[in-house]
Amino acid sequence: MVTRHEVPRSVSVRAAAKINLHLGVGAVREDGFHPLDTVYQAISLYDDITLTSVGVASLGLQCADYIDPADVPLGADNIGFRALERVRARTGSPGVEKLEILKSIPVAGGMAGGSADAAATLLAYDRLHDLALPDEVLLELAAELGSDVPFSLVGGTARGRGRGELVQPLDDSGTWWWVAVPSDVGLSTPEVYRHFDMLFPNALTEPTGPDSLLIALAGGEPLQLARTLYNDLQAPAIDLRPELGTLIDRGESEGALRGIVSGSGPTCIFLCDSLGGAHAVVAGLRGAGHDVVLIANGPVAGAHLLEHP
Ligand code: ATP
Repeated sequence: MVTRHEVPRSVSVRAAAKINLHLGVGAVREDGFHPLDTVYQAISLYDDITLTSVGVASLGLQCADYIDPADVPLGADNIGFRALERVRARTGSPGVEKLEILKSIPVAGGMAGGSADAAATLLAYDRLHDLALPDEVLLELAAELGSDVPFSLVGGTARGRGRGELVQPLDDSGTWWWVAVPSDVGLSTPEVYRHFDMLFPNALTEPTGPDSLLIALAGGEPLQLARTLYNDLQAPAIDLRPELGTLIDRGESEGALRGIVSGSGPTCIFLCDSLGGAHAVVAGLRGAGHDVVLIANGPVAGAHLLEHP
């Protein structure tokens, strides 16, 4: 509880959107999860969260103009609140906080916006209460909250195995330019996985690995990387939303080296040869009637502090 003599403390943390340069999906396991072999990259679209010690818990939300705030739950279902509950239970530390989310990562777009908020909230809580939790504990809590949350902490470019939660950073000295096209209507990740199971009943137990992509990353050549981008969820996502296939064709005809569905979609991402190339693709896609077309570069850092008064 804040007394009259205490000044409320705030901590702000920024966390990036992720894309999957490679997403190999294996046959569904008995526990309902799909084994993954993926390569994540954090790109320069961000959610910022601010956590303030106050007497009454609350959630504030501000969204970029291309995001409908109604798509983000404001109650206990918000993954930021779930992160607070989880870290409080683990550490036994007290505290009542106001959580404010400034959202620029498209919602339900396959770019891990919720995961970014969860990762940012864990880090903010740790710093706000001076807990100095070891990285392993933060990563464990992150994995309990969702498969993509550990990567949101780590950032950069990284390989993810297991359900995607076992994250191993990769060397990536390139600057890769992306154009991202979110959709007005989200696509549910579980629905896309169910559709994968239906389309590929004989999927192999072991997901396809990213060997050729890893070589391309080390080479630093956009065209080589473009050729090795891979997503097993692209076929089910396009089967559910055929217009995504049309969008990918259009982006490639406007000069993108390659377009793919981002994770489970429906956001599509386009690798470009340079910032100038990305601007040309943006102009082409806007001309084709896509209002929201974003430029981002990667890799960028994982969740990090913006201020700590
Ligand atoms: P992933 O790529 O990790 O599968 P996603 O980008 O497809 O995730 P999110 O933006 O994380 O999807 O949103 C998935 C759902 O989570 C939303 O439909 C929303 O109802 C719910 N949700 C809960 N908390 C949040 C949050 N803080 N931000 C966005 N969505 C949230």
